[in-house]
Amino acid sequence: MANDSQLMDKLVSLCKRRGYIFQSSEIYGGVGSVWDYGPLGVELQRNVKEAWWRAMVHERDDIEGLDAGILMHPRVWEASGHVAGFTDPLVDCKACKARFRADQLGESACPRKPSMRPGQHKDCELTEPRLFNLMFMTFMGPVEEAAAAVYLRPETAQGSYVNFLNVLNSGRQRIPFGIAQIGKAFRNEITPGNFIFRTREFEQMEMQFFVEPGTDDEWFEYWKAKRIEWIRSLGVRSERLRFHEHGPTELAHYAKRAFDIQYEFPFGWSEFEGVHNRTDFDLRRHQEYSGKKLEYVDPNDRDKRYLPYVIETAVGVGRTMLALLADAYHEEEVKGEKRVVLRLHPRVAPTKVAVFPLVNKDGMPEFAEKLQREVRAAGIPSFYDDSGAIGRRYRRQDEAGTPFGLTVDGQTVADGTVTIRERDTLRQERIDAARAVSHVRELIR
Ligand code: ATP
Repeated sequence: MANDSQLMDKLVSLCKRRGYIFQSSEIYGGVGSVWDYGPLGVELQRNVKEAWWRAMVHERDDIEGLDAGILMHPRVWEASGHVAGFTDPLVDCKACKARFRADQLGESACPRKPSMRPGQHKDCELTEPRLFNLMFMTFMGPVEEAAAAVYLRPETAQGSYVNFLNVLNSGRQRIPFGIAQIGKAFRNEITPGNFIFRTREFEQMEMQFFVEPGTDDEWFEYWKAKRIEWIRSLGVRSERLRFHEHGPTELAHYAKRAFDIQYEFPFGWSEFEGVHNRTDFDLRRHQEYSGKKLEYVDPNDRDKRYLPYVIETAVGVGRTMLALLADAYHEEEVKGEKRVVLRLHPRVAPTKVAVFPLVNKDGMPEFAEKLQREVRAAGIPSFYDDSGAIGRRYRRQDEAGTPFGLTVDGQTVADGTVTIRERDTLRQERIDAARAVSHVRELIR
């Protein structure tokens, strides 16, 4: 299925049809590279964030959570290097008005003649590369003047650095320890695209792990292994995952070493998570720019003071969702009919169970409604569907990614049993309705 050139189109259209993802401001013609998560999309998104938070914060003693503001003191971005260095070199074509990243000219296509590279068409007129800052700027307070200019954060990490001592001291932590954050980030990307892969507004799940210098290589390997294990635990196929190490020209200004975790998207292998050794770059710069000491003092040896090194794990919520959706999308033939099914892992699937009365009479709706109330009371997201032929209802839930169905039929009313149907195996089994909730709960686990 990977490299299926139509797969992205099929995913985009399924996501719209089933209420996963809509284009922002669609009725106005859309706005560049911003997407809205619909009723099912927002559930998938919450489940992804919940799985990350659980693995990174709740299941560990050595990581604390944080939710810093999107707007920060403008000096933060001078210290971090983003004002000076967060730029892509750009080339414009004066003839067709298209804009390219100078480092990607070789891979881009001329809009006039897509078989040609920019500059090869006889009318092309390319400008010299110019630097373009990717940060969105806005103004704080009532006047639009340079003194009031602030940035929308391009990464959440800086919030963790400037709060390093606050979290260390209030959380009674010792090094090594980490700060985890989930939040929006904004980048005025030059070449956004591929659906939710590269957008201008997106959400990140980032964790900064502060370690003693000299132990950083070890922790770097530890976090690489942990992070690829996490995405596998959400059901993504191992053969579609790999590491890519940044060569010297790819390394960010702050990094000593960096690995991407890549997924084989329908448009090719691309990064969805980065693991970076940021050294003491950020803390050192904030210490310098703020004039505040940010050193760690070892409580067992007060003469031992140092600026910790940071191992960062940084993953986008949207890119994780795109990997999950692309990995889950399957087309298959069942009894001579085409079926589209989203094989999302039950842990992340938006709706866990659908409840169906076979027909709307003979006590079936009453039984089914009571059953759904029990499912709901157990905290399991569910959907009640009583419209149309049962086969069509199953297909709708297959496309939506709902892993289990409970069907109430004539026999249910007589003997209290219901049929449980599994999305992936299509297996159907009769079970006691009184056991249905605990059965579903076990299957989700
Ligand atoms: P890329 O090279 O793809 O622009 P990056 O290396 O700049 O990404 P990081 O700064 O390491 O990305 O950000 C960490 C993670 O945040 C990325 O792995 C990705 O999942 C997510 N991310 C970054 N930029 C975007 C974007 N424009 N849209 C959606 N997600 C993004």
